[in-house]
Parts: sequence; C-alpha cells; structure tokens
Amino acid sequence: MAPGVGGLPVAERDVEVSGPVAEFMRSLSPKALGQMRLGLRIFEWLPFPRRFSHLDAAARDRFLQRLERSRLGLKHELLLMAKVLSTLGYAVTPQVRGAIGFEVGCGLADGSLPEPAGSLGDTEPPAGGEECDVVIVGSGAGGAVAAATLAEAGLDVLVLEAGGHYNRDNYPSDQLDAIANLYREGGLTIAAGKPAIPVPVARAVGGTTVINSGTCFRAPDPVLEDWRQRFGIGWAGQLDADFAEAEDFLRVTPLDPERMGRNGQLAMEGAAAVGASGGPISRNAGSCVQCSSCPFGCAIDAKRGMHVSYLPRAVAAGARVRAGVEVDRVLFEGDRAVGVAGAVAVPAAMRRQVRPRGESRFTVRARRAVIVAGGALGTPELLLRSGVGGGQVGRNLHIHPACWVGARYEEEVRGWDGVMQSFYIDQWEPQRILLEATFTPLAFGGGWLLGAGRSHQEAMLDFGHIGSIGVHLSDESAGRVGLGTPGSLRASYRLTRDDADRLAFGIARAAEVHFAAGATEVYPNIARVGTLRPNDLAGFEATRFRPAELRLEAFHPMGTARISADPRAGVCATDGSVHGTEGLYVADASLFPTSVGVNPMMTVIAFAKQVARRLASVAA
Ligand SMILES: Cc1cc2nc3c(=O)[nH]c(=O)nc-3n(C[C@H](O)[C@H](O)[C@H](O)COP(=O)(O)OP(=O)(O)OC[C@H]3O[C@@H](n4cnc5c(N)ncnc54)[C@H](O)[C@@H]3O)c2cc1C
Ligand code: SF4
Repeated sequence: MAPGVGGLPVAERDVEVSGPVAEFMRSLSPKALGQMRLGLRIFEWLPFPRRFSHLDAAARDRFLQRLERSRLGLKHELLLMAKVLSTLGYAVTPQVRGAIGFEVGCGLADGSLPEPAGSLGDTEPPAGGEECDVVIVGSGAGGAVAAATLAEAGLDVLVLEAGGHYNRDNYPSDQLDAIANLYREGGLTIAAGKPAIPVPVARAVGGTTVINSGTCFRAPDPVLEDWRQRFGIGWAGQLDADFAEAEDFLRVTPLDPERMGRNGQLAMEGAAAVGASGGPISRNAGSCVQCSSCPFGCAIDAKRGMHVSYLPRAVAAGARVRAGVEVDRVLFEGDRAVGVAGAVAVPAAMRRQVRPRGESRFTVRARRAVIVAGGALGTPELLLRSGVGGGQVGRNLHIHPACWVGARYEEEVRGWDGVMQSFYIDQWEPQRILLEATFTPLAFGGGWLLGAGRSHQEAMLDFGHIGSIGVHLSDESAGRVGLGTPGSLRASYRLTRDDADRLAFGIARAAEVHFAAGATEVYPNIARVGTLRPNDLAGFEATRFRPAELRLEAFHPMGTARISADPRAGVCATDGSVHGTEGLYVADASLFPTSVGVNPMMTVIAFAKQVARRLASVAA
C-alpha cells in the first residue's frame, strides 16, 4: 500500500507497519477482529487467481488504481478498510511525519500550562464490590455531570467506568497505542448499512470527552421547542442556566481568529466570500493554539474533558470513581433497580495493556438509584442485557453522518499548526447541514485522502496544502443498536435517499466555500467523483448519488433510550427514569428524542444535570 514515493519511507522495508497494526488489532473484540480478518482475506484474494501480497510493486499499484476506479461499493469499502488500517500504522511513524513536515505539538497561546486537573482519588476497584446511594455506569459527559450534581446534593455516589484512567501524566505517547487504549474497539465501532459508517466512541474515565474536539454548542432553540412539544419534555426550553454554568466551569471561550490556524481562516474567508453565516467555534480548551492530539487525549489537558473537570469536582464532593469495571447487568428486586453487576477487566497496573488478564466479578448495591450513562451505544446494550426498557431500547439511533471534504490550496495550509476544529458555518441549518472546519491528524485524515498506492502517497506528501471542512447532517435517518451473538454489540443504520441528497448538498456547499477561499481542487469523498474543479460544481449538483456511494463517518451517536412522555414512543420518562421500572435512570446522549443538529456534548451535560437534580430532590 505504501511503496515509498518522493522521500516517503517504503512500508515494511524502512518502517514497520503490519506488526504495530496487528498489535493494535488485539484491542478489538473477537467479533470485530473476525470481521476485519475476513475483510482483509477477501482483499488479499481480490486479484484472484493471484494474491495481493504476492504481486510485484507495479502490479499492486495497477490493481489498487483499478479498485479506486471501480463502481462496485464492496470493492470501495474493502479498499477503504485497507487504506485506513495501513495509514494508521504508517502515518504515525516519525519517518513519515518527518517527510511530510507534520509536527506534533500542543500549546497554549501564552506558553503556560493549563491548571492542574484535580484528583480522582483511588480509582482501583476494591475486591468484590461496594455500596452507595447512587451508582452511575459510565463517566462521560452524562455520567460525570450526574455524579457531580448528586454528590454536591449530599448523596453517596459511585461511578463505574469500563475504560482506564488517563490524563496528561500518562496518555500513551504512541498514537496507535492511544487509539487502542482510549477507544472502544480501537475506534472501529461500525454501524452496518449502505454505506457502513464508522461511529467511534471512547472507553476511558471521562468518556468520549477525553478524545473529542472540545467544540461547545448549545442545542438550537427550535430543536428544544420540538422536544418540548412532541415529546413532552417541559424543561427542554429552560436549559439556559445549565448551559451557562457549564460554559463557565469548562472555561468555554470562542477561538481568536488570529490564532485558530490557517485551516479555520480559509473556511472563514470562504464563508465571507459566499455570504454564508458562521463564526469561530467556542471550545472548552482556553487559548490552545496547536493541534495534533485532540483525538489521542489532549497532551497538555488544555481541553477540559470530564476527567479533568466534573469528575474531580464530584470526587471533591465525596464521590468515588472506579476505573476498569465493565457492568453487564442491572440488578432488580421486583421492578426496583437495586444495583449492578459486572467484571473488573484489567488490574490498574496493567491497564495500558489491551488484553484482560483474568476477570473478577464486581457487585454494587445502590440504596437509592442506578443511573446508566454508557453513551448511546453502551446504554442500550446494558438495558438490553438486563432485559428492561421495552421494545424501543436501541431504536432511534441518530449519528449526525459526516463527510470530510478536503481541498488543495496553492498556499501552505499546515492544518496541524492550529486548532483542530475551529470555524463553523451555519448558513444551511434550515437544510439540516452544519459545516465545521476540522483538520484531523495524519493518522486519521490520511486514510481519507484521495488515491491508492502511489497516488495516495503523493496525496500524503501534499498534506500540508490540504484544507478540510466537515459536513454534518442533522439526520432524519435512523439506525438501531442491538445485541448480536454472544451478546456482543451490533449497530446498524439506514441512510435514506433524502438524507443522502442533503449530504450531497452540504458537500457542494463545502466545495463552494473551499473554492471561494482559493482552493484549486476539492475532494468530495464520493468514489465516482474523485476530484472537483470549480467548473465541475454545477454538474456535481445536478447528479443524484445513491446513499451507498457516500463515504461517511459519524461522531455523535444519540437517541437509543429516548425520552418520551408516551411510553410507546420512548424508553425514558421526562425525568430520565426508565418507563416501567423504579430507581433506574438514564443520563447521557441516549436520551435525545431526535437528532440535536449540533455537536452534542453541552446538551448531554444539560440533560444530565436535569435528570440528576430531579433525582436528588426525590432522594432527599
Ligand atoms: C472523535 C470525536 C470528536 C467529538 N467531538 C465533539 C466536540 O467537539 N463537541 C461535542 O459536543 N461533541 C463531540 N463529540 C461527541 C461527544 O463527545 C459525545 O456526544 C459525548 O461525550 C457523549 O456523552 P455520553 O455521556 O453520552 O457518552 P460518553 O462520553 O461516550 O461516555 C460513555 C462512557 O460510558 C462507558 N461505558 C459504556 N458502557 C459501560 C458499561 N457497561 N460499564 C462501564 N462503563 C461503560 C464508556 O466506556 C464511556 O467512557 C465527539 C465524539 C468523537 C468520537
Ligand atoms: S488542539 Fe486539542 S489537543 Fe491540541 S492543545 Fe488544543 S485541545 Fe489540546
């Protein structure tokens, strides 16, 4: 896949790729590993009767070019998988970064270090189990905020988190190692469908806020009003004080356009040129000015993820946080939730290792309530395993399908010299489209660059001239989270033609912004289009694409245990309690009745506060 072009190292001869990738793949569950193996095996035999790995370099390149031009969706998905995996292993090496000039580094504008994180105390689970008033499963945006709210109300709170505890003192320095340890399934959780869509989520103390981009939006008023009217959430229109308190505590600040980096500035200039509304993004990372590690854990913890904000606050108020405990069942006496049971997967001293070394059972008795906050994949999974919540559990999965639209600029962009997610364009919100200038690190972004083999290598060499805009759709399409055999997570998603049309419209708008900012070529990430030049845009807009032709990712799963006053239409009542049960609550992105339309973290926080405050008043 990487024959070494223009000073780039030759894979396996100059830099080792397959060994580290094989090691990384050990972080996958047996089911995901089996699927990857099958995919790679098919890829290997695609040039039948010969095998890909037995071809000489020139024949491999010809074969890769044919795959790239193929109109068969399956061939494209296999090629994409091979590109993503090989780029993960290849692009993280110092030799590749050196050849491209991609520098790793994060910093604050004034060169200072961010404030200290605050302590989480002893996160080691004691043998056997514990007791508490309220046990919370999951420590992400929902779980951490619920913990702080309840602990400050005087309740004895215990937070159980499946992932390990990391911060600026111990994030894995190797990026592959970071992905393996900070993400569920090494970031390869995928919603099956046409197209299949990767939906990465974290598995760490602090949840997905540890690896997210720090972008902070309040939920749009029309969405909240819809939730009030159609789903009976009376308090949905009263979140201003919760948003304001969280923004203050997380030091949410709009980016300074001077310092956001050229990638954001180009989007800003392009938006101004086409007359589109937008602005610098507000983030919970103070005055950070250089990106390369948002998705690997912010190396200096400038980003105030939950592990360095609400969780220390909860612990200061008396809460306990236990890392490495995976809950597999909610315990009941009749309809009343009285605790949870799970397994201590990895002893703390070995937590950076991927393979569990001996499990031990862990049981918690909760005197007042159980809160499930495992995120929109983990929460329905746990409810389904526990056999509660009714037929709506896991349905109504929305994900904000997103497309990376890259562009080539004559000038050097060096997108890594700036903030990863920096400028938003909301002009097309009525069409359900939000654009965000987002520059992903090479190990992630490199897999989506145009080309295969030599041409992909040429595109990598040119990475410093690439600008990128993410197109996010507020989706009406929906999917489902279920359990496969033997009880493993299974997610699927069906992108409708209408939503595919909206995404294509969004891609065209991103291209328009790029061209207006001076881009010479745009890469819409649609196999049969390849490259767009300014004169191609009208033709692009006149073309209708099948959903399966789009190459998408999604970062915002939500809705799988949604609130609805009507138990037939949702899983939770308006106070977050699970219909048909007592003492069982949900407090995370699963609660959203529909797609929220903007990056969801702040809305998750506001919802968790509402649920926890009501529970605290009942418990008191
Ligand atoms: C790459 C990326 C970038 C993003 N960028 C942004 C952004 O800039 N702004 C924004 O608003 N949103 C962003 N998001 C999304 C945002 O981070 C999430 O919407 C938010 O964190 C969801 O909160 P949550 O509490 O629902 O779940 P999470 O934060 O995912 O937390 C769930 C936690 O529960 C744990 N858990 C699950 N099941 C169990 C179990 N059975 N036992 C024990 N523990 C369990 C998980 O390990 C996880 O740590 C991004 C997401 C990704 C993937
Ligand atoms: S860009 Fe991301 S990783 Fe870099 S300092 Fe800012 S928050 Fe941290």
